Amino acid sequence: MSTSDPSAERPRENFIYDIIDEDLDQGTYGDRVVTRFPPEPNGHLHIGHAKSIVLNFGIKHDYADRADTQCHLRFDDTNPKTESPEYVESIKDAVNWLGYDWEDHEYHASDCFEQFYRYAITLIKQGDAYVDSLSEEKIREYRGTVDEPGTPSPYRDRSVEENLELFRKMKAGEFEDGEHVLRAKIDMSSPHMIMRDPLLFRILHAPHYRRGDEWCLYPMYDYAHPLEDAIEDVTHSLCTLEFDNNRRVYDWVMEHCLDADEIPARPRQYEFNRLNLGYTVMSKTKLRHLIEEDLVDGWDDPRLPTISGLRRRGVPPSAIRSFCREVGVTRSQSRVQIGHFEHALRDDLNPTAPRVMAVLDPLKVVVTNWDEDEVDWINANHWPRDIDKDETRPVPFAREFYIERGDFREDPPEDFIRLAPGREVRLRHAYFFTCEEIVRDEDGTVTKLRGTIDPDTRDSTAPDGRSPDGTLHWVSAAHGIPFEARLYDRLFGVPDPDAREDHFTEFLNPDSLNVRQGVLEPAVRDLDTDQRVQFERQGYFWADPDTSRPDALVYNQIVPLRDTWSGGEEGLTQEELAQQRREKEQRKEEQRRRSLEGKTDPAEHLDDAQRDRFTHFHNELGIDREDAATMAGDDALADFFEQALEHYDAPEPLANWTVNELLGRLNDRTVAALPLGPDEFADLVRLVDAEVISTRGADEVFHELVENGGDPEAIVDARDLRQVDDTEALRPTIQAVLGDHPDEVARYRDGKKGLIGFFMGQVMQATDGAANPELARTLLQEELEPAA
Ligand code: ATP
Ligand code: MG
Repeated sequence: MSTSDPSAERPRENFIYDIIDEDLDQGTYGDRVVTRFPPEPNGHLHIGHAKSIVLNFGIKHDYADRADTQCHLRFDDTNPKTESPEYVESIKDAVNWLGYDWEDHEYHASDCFEQFYRYAITLIKQGDAYVDSLSEEKIREYRGTVDEPGTPSPYRDRSVEENLELFRKMKAGEFEDGEHVLRAKIDMSSPHMIMRDPLLFRILHAPHYRRGDEWCLYPMYDYAHPLEDAIEDVTHSLCTLEFDNNRRVYDWVMEHCLDADEIPARPRQYEFNRLNLGYTVMSKTKLRHLIEEDLVDGWDDPRLPTISGLRRRGVPPSAIRSFCREVGVTRSQSRVQIGHFEHALRDDLNPTAPRVMAVLDPLKVVVTNWDEDEVDWINANHWPRDIDKDETRPVPFAREFYIERGDFREDPPEDFIRLAPGREVRLRHAYFFTCEEIVRDEDGTVTKLRGTIDPDTRDSTAPDGRSPDGTLHWVSAAHGIPFEARLYDRLFGVPDPDAREDHFTEFLNPDSLNVRQGVLEPAVRDLDTDQRVQFERQGYFWADPDTSRPDALVYNQIVPLRDTWSGGEEGLTQEELAQQRREKEQRKEEQRRRSLEGKTDPAEHLDDAQRDRFTHFHNELGIDREDAATMAGDDALADFFEQALEHYDAPEPLANWTVNELLGRLNDRTVAALPLGPDEFADLVRLVDAEVISTRGADEVFHELVENGGDPEAIVDARDLRQVDDTEALRPTIQAVLGDHPDEVARYRDGKKGLIGFFMGQVMQATDGAANPELARTLLQEELEPAA
């Protein structure tokens, strides 16, 4: 299965690969490439660790055909106070689940305590280390600052004999915690603070989960880590960028502890950017806090970025691997949007999750022209959009079924294409249905809808070629299985809870878990219990593996489908999205009302200078009154618009984008606070105008620009958003689609013109949505109706 075979995955080139290539070419380590993943067993792993795992184990796989590769799993267990065997087990479990195998290369730093001690004796004898008896506080004080050199400790010049004597006593347990430390004797006035006699050992009277009470002398990370690498014969020691400076100590330890002939080619440390995700926390300390304070449901709460949480949520390991490869290994630090992660999830699940129907907020519908006990078992494709897959399942249609409450509006706005009184919609895989009657309870709440189906529309097409705009999913009331759906949203309401230090829990999103009581089509019973599925129009789900409630059927939402109404405003909570949508609708409504009344003057509230601008925008540039007034009333926005105009002289589309998109994103910020400048903004609008990208693609690019800035064209390329708009490129695809569907082509030519929608769908599917719809339609018609 592809989800468990990381060795088959595409290698991702990065600067570390360049270094390894070079080492292999030069034979620095012969033909060996040995990496390691070195977690401290003080908590469960999270997706940040996954990045390191995928990098280190990925190298083992990617170089397997060129070199003698190995990746070690090393427990960096040198702090007895925070570590436990439970964490060791959970870490092993996580690495395994991600698809990796360390074979027999499991190591523990705590197995090397004796060696660390012996190397320290060597350092003391060489005059390169000394026992310091200053307090922790004094040590910090004596270290100086970035601008001032440090002061040597009064104990710095102890004799070798005295140091040896004291160090032996430290090991023998003759001192209290903190009474003495062992320090490297490097340079108290080094411009690099880290080199001002770093600590090598400290006294800690605490039982270690593996060594018990044997040791009360524990090595510091900067000393132990390079030695462990050397002891294990690691070649490339990869860590995150915060350790950039520590590399100086790393190299110092190598040079001073090891004889040149002991290790001819010593390991080297390289740093890469850590993975930071928005709207969540990643430090184990903060994660542990959430769990200990009962703010989440344990380490495997599906809202957490822990590996166990993601796993329980239903995220496939292959999706985590491809995401970790996608985000890239570089030397510049940035935050990755959750949207990127969700994108990787959808990419992974789309081809593997069969489609089924589930209603999460049921509203009953009664078909008055359908017999009480008649059931029509419809053969519905599990893969309605994939012409290469044709597994079907039986879906029962009967007199009563459920639809999504939100798919019905009594008083719908014009562009609402779902169900409303008197409206006809298509039921997915089944008939066209028209709503004729609303049934309410005493409070006026709609409890039921009644209406009729058109029996001639069973295959979702009408004999007269009419085609309702909306398609709804539904589940038969008599056959549906009741279940609980758990929908997860961002854990925090702010993008950077990590930056809020001790207050971070105040920013938890109160709506991060949404529980719904829904109904599910019966065919899910025939799927494997761990099969991930797509609930059509909703998202990807799987049955919660928690066995503590075996009687309840619970589905976790792994990731929602792209929100087609908002264009995917990633980074916002569902609540915020809904709010934004409401506001947008209200704004439009307000505008419509005002222009109908024609009385109010949109420029009424402007001052004189603004009024001049308004006149210029409206009279000379031809921008409509409302938009012109909106921009003129906000000086910064108007400046921005004018600068953009200098870059791309297209007042109307620019004004449109400024008022409808840009303004909506500002909230309380000014345009100046955006990472996006007028030139980039203009470039984006130009790309849309030139139909280089679709409006959907434009939304994605715009969102990225507002979050992180950048060059629109580069973003388009990086995300492969260019529309296929070239006639010659598209025609073969269209011919292939028609070739695959001879029956539909015949029916179309017989007069079933409504099938054009079906063909469009196939073309979009075949091009991953990249075809320019107008061109596709024209070409389809050309091919379907060869000139008489
Ligand atoms: P935490 O603060 O969550 O405990 P840590 O860095 O102390 O993180 P370790 O167990 O020491 O956790 O990490 C093991 C390895 O995983 C280290 O090599 C570390 O650099 C790497 N790692 C940890 N977090 C990330 C991250 N967010 N992105 C990439 N690598 C990471
Ligand atoms: Mg750590």
